Amino acid sequence: MSTSRGNTSRKRPQKHQNRTVFKNDLHDTSQKTKFLNSMEVKGVCKRCKDILEWKIKFKKYKPLSAARKCVGCEQKTVKYAYHLLCDNCATEKGVCAKCCKPFHEEVLEELSEDKNLHQKLTGLPERKRRSILRYIEKHQDGSSTTQVNVMAHIEDVLAGMRQLDCVSESDSDSGAT
Ligand SMILES: [Zn+2]
Ligand SMILES: [Zn+2]
Repeated sequence: MSTSRGNTSRKRPQKHQNRTVFKNDLHDTSQKTKFLNSMEVKGVCKRCKDILEWKIKFKKYKPLSAARKCVGCEQKTVKYAYHLLCDNCATEKGVCAKCCKPFHEEVLEELSEDKNLHQKLTGLPERKRRSILRYIEKHQDGSSTTQVNVMAHIEDVLAGMRQLDCVSESDSDSGAT
């Protein structure tokens, strides 16, 4: 297993997806494969989720035979392979159970890939940016819906600001005419 931090090259989804979906249980109907296919990868960031799902799909995933020691509480509470933190610690800290990165960092990273939104975000007053960060921290759960919610929230904040802008602009305009 490689978890070297140096190798963080982002793997983008391929442009042309294969038409036929790869099925790992086509010739393998073992309980293990069935179990892994039914397992839901959760408690991790999107990047780690992709990695783990890839491992499952291509049968590189080796489930834990016994609980492992959590790097947070130092108890043998880690139930999932490749996770460093147990569910409790990860939830408490608001970080990915595998790479231990805060979820809001990831959301922000993804948001900043949207150039338009990034521009809007950096144009925001510090107070607004912080409120958005707090919002992300509060709603983080590693699911993809979070990002959608955050986007909606940011749009809300921006809409609110635009409204304020309009009010102040029309105020100064009325004086000129
Ligand atoms: Zn723990
Ligand atoms: Zn992660």
